[in-house]
Amino acid sequence: MRRRGGRITRARRALLELIERSARPLGPRELQSLLASEGVQMDRVSVYRNLSALLELGLLHRVVGSSAVRPCAEREERCHHAIVCSQCGSAREFHSGALERALGEVRRATRYRVQGHVLELRGLCERCQR
Ligand SMILES: [Zn+2]
Ligand SMILES: [Zn+2]
Ligand SMILES: [Zn+2]
Repeated sequence: MRRRGGRITRARRALLELIERSARPLGPRELQSLLASEGVQMDRVSVYRNLSALLELGLLHRVVGSSAVRPCAEREERCHHAIVCSQCGSAREFHSGALERALGEVRRATRYRVQGHVLELRGLCERCQR
């Protein structure tokens, strides 16, 4: 398993592979029926539990404001974000030092003890622009 692999059960691996093969984020219901079509029976509760475990390990991310998940492509332990296509759902991750520095400036200006940030860009991917 990749970095931060932890303990990955057979069921979790099947779930992860399905998500990694998909060109767009998938929701729990959809995952459950896709698994079933591949002969893997997983009840709703187990789908949610396994997704939480994979999210916790950093192998998946939830699309902001949705229950759909997508795989993590970042190899380094650093803050990174995604830009998600609002038409086909494909996502790309990026890291920006300039962005993180700008957020540091906001933290200093507001004097808040910032515990995290949620940021996701939306737009049209190259293919959907054509
Ligand atoms: Zn990621
Ligand atoms: Zn960040
Ligand atoms: Zn697209």
